[in-house]
Order: sequence, then C-alpha cells, then structure tokens
Amino acid sequence: VGLFARDVTVCVVSSGSGGNCTYVGDAHAGVLIDCGLATKQVMARLAEAGLADAPIDGVLVTHEHSDHVGAAGVLSRALARRGKPVPFWMTAGTHEALDPRVVPDGIELVKAGSTVAVKHLKAECFPVPHDTKDPVAWRVHLGSVTVGVVTDLGRSTKLVVDKLRGCDIAVLEFNHDEELLMSGPYPYWLKQRIKGNHGHLSNGQAQGLLADALASGPGSSRLKTLILGHLSEENNRPEIALAACRATLRAAGVRDEIAVHLGLQHAAVAPIRARTELW
Ligand SMILES: [Zn+2]
Ligand SMILES: [Zn+2]
Repeated sequence: VGLFARDVTVCVVSSGSGGNCTYVGDAHAGVLIDCGLATKQVMARLAEAGLADAPIDGVLVTHEHSDHVGAAGVLSRALARRGKPVPFWMTAGTHEALDPRVVPDGIELVKAGSTVAVKHLKAECFPVPHDTKDPVAWRVHLGSVTVGVVTDLGRSTKLVVDKLRGCDIAVLEFNHDEELLMSGPYPYWLKQRIKGNHGHLSNGQAQGLLADALASGPGSSRLKTLILGHLSEENNRPEIALAACRATLRAAGVRDEIAVHLGLQHAAVAPIRARTELW
C-alpha cells in the first residue's frame, strides 16, 4: 500500500423534489447516490460538468421515493449497454416498496448501518427518519476523504449528527422555511407531512443539526464543504437557506473555514474537488 494523492470529485447533479442525484468518485472508481431524474439528464449534466467519462461502478439508493430512484430501471440498462452493468444497493424495505416500473437490474441488498465496498471506495449507509419503508443516508469514504448526502429526514438524530460530523464534504437538507411552508399553497395534509418527524428538515432544523455537528467535543467536526440540498422551490428561497446556514457557521466560529454551495434542481453544481492522501 503506497501513499499517493488522488483527487476526489463530488458533483451534485440534481437536488430537490424534482429529482436527486450526486456523483462521488475519483479517477478509478465512482458511484451515484440516488437517480431520481431522467437518465438522459443525468448523463447530459455529468457531461456538462466535465464528467462524461467519470467511472460509475454502482448506484447507492436512499429510499423508494421517485425523486430518488425514478430512473433506476432505465439507468441500469443504459449503464449495461455502455458495457458496464452495475449494482444498485438498497435496503430490503426500499426494494419491497419500489415501484415495479423502476426496478433496476443488479439489485444488491444492504442492511441499514452496513458498509459495502465499491472497488476501493467504501459506501456506508445509516438509518434516517423519513416516511418510507427503510430509508438510509449514505457516506462514501475515499481514502482520507468522507463525503455524505443527508437529505429526506424529518428530524435530527444523534446518529445523524455523528455521521455529519465525520464528513469532509456533505450535502445537507435545507428543505423549507417554516413560515413559507405554512403560509404557502400546499394542502394541509402535505404541510403536516413535510413538517412531521418523518418528513423533511426545515432550515431551522438543519441549522440545529449543523450546530450540533460543529459543536466542540469528542470527535470534533471534519466539515470543510457544505452543499445545501433538497430546497423546496415552493417553500424556500436560496437566499433564506444560505443566510440560515451562514448564521450557524458564524455562531460556531467557522464561517471562513467552511465553503458553502447550493444544490440546484435544474442544473449540476460545478464539481467540488478534494485531495485524499491515505491509501
Ligand atoms: Zn426527496
Ligand atoms: Zn423522500
């Protein structure tokens, strides 16, 4: 085992209730976390981001909502035609609840809390509270760099705080502004679902989770880059979410140490790179 430097690339291809997909990889291996927008869009956006030839060795599915797994069937066949059938990892609960029209080839079941190897990448899933059968969030470990995607959860948990704290780069849900949600056009039942313990994180809840992750204590935070994700187009505003995030970073005394980006629904975010040196 030698000691080399390798560039890790993270590209949020799409984020929001209209479709979610994030690429994490290096020159030799990579994964997609979720595939909730059309395969053509995934491929076009990766190409626009300069990642047309980036390796895709697996797809990590978080849960069965169509904005996370809607393209799984088509994507699995498209990757196979490219010459490379890949495994789609998901929990048994997610598998059971999948819409039969989107079932991919190459399903591999994982237990929430377990880690799978994708070439030299390690992909780890952990449970989150969301209104689906067995939802998880994923972290990908590439050498010394850990990348996490933490969206679609109704509340913070101690486990989620610990997992976020261990990420160098994280996508974190800032779904809605509570006032915009309550005064907005959604029907009452949907407002209650989004607000509920198994719905989505409000800006305020995301701030609380982030503040806990940044709090000093045993195993202090590794966070260097944050991407705000799964913003509601109806019930949030980018500037409100960004201001909320920055206020939390300022209060924690790390405003200048952590780069903040905004995940987008309609375009890929410019790839974020990090260097890993431990192999
Ligand atoms: Zn979602
Ligand atoms: Zn969901």
